[in-house]
Amino acid sequence: KKPVIAIDGYSSTGKSSISKIIAEKLGIVHLDTGALYRGITWFALQNCTDKDGNISLPKLYDSFPVISLEFKRDEDELVLYVNQINISKEIRTAEVSDHVSFIAKQKEVRDFLLETQRSIARNGGVIMDGRDIGTVVLPSADFKFFLTASIEERTRRRYEELLALGLEAHIDQVRENLIERDRIDSEREISPLKKADDAIEIDNTNLSKSQTIESILYHLKK
Ligand code: C5P
Repeated sequence: KKPVIAIDGYSSTGKSSISKIIAEKLGIVHLDTGALYRGITWFALQNCTDKDGNISLPKLYDSFPVISLEFKRDEDELVLYVNQINISKEIRTAEVSDHVSFIAKQKEVRDFLLETQRSIARNGGVIMDGRDIGTVVLPSADFKFFLTASIEERTRRRYEELLALGLEAHIDQVRENLIERDRIDSEREISPLKKADDAIEIDNTNLSKSQTIESILYHLKK
């Protein structure tokens, strides 16, 4: 049976890009759960604001029955479609990054997304990355990893990633956003960002992407 692998950790530690490559190597599916929280946040900013332009949580919860979240295969990637719209680029904008941790700390939102995440792992053969995969979403995953890296290195990586996407980015804002999201994600009451007791921690500040992948593959083969 193909493995179920949970990858958690701080923002911009390379969880998603590393998971994607491991999924290709092992012939399993990769799910970036951050994209789900970003997708909901994008939807809320578009459709569920009050007269001052702030997100209205009651409006968002009322919309849950009409939000469709689908992953479609685009080349070898699973791309998130929210109500049939491909929003891969929109969910990386600063506006979404600035609101996503507020949305993600709401119990209603986490409950809404839990079943989508678990159903994808039901038949095995999946690598799922996020903040609470090893602790809450898939506590009995076959392998669990927790990635960390220094804030300087993570800022540099996220900044380069945004430029590569052709999005506007300011290095100080990127750094502030990472610090703020990690704070909200770690301090929230439900499913906080936390290393599972049985997860293997990898600090990849001084590791290249391929070295981090090698390290994970080494543990998977043991
Ligand atoms: O992984 P990414 O940085 O795209 O995640 C965006 C945000 O979504 C995180 O900062 C966090 O607030 C939320 N998130 C979460 N639980 C997950 C994945 C992401 O709360 N499993």
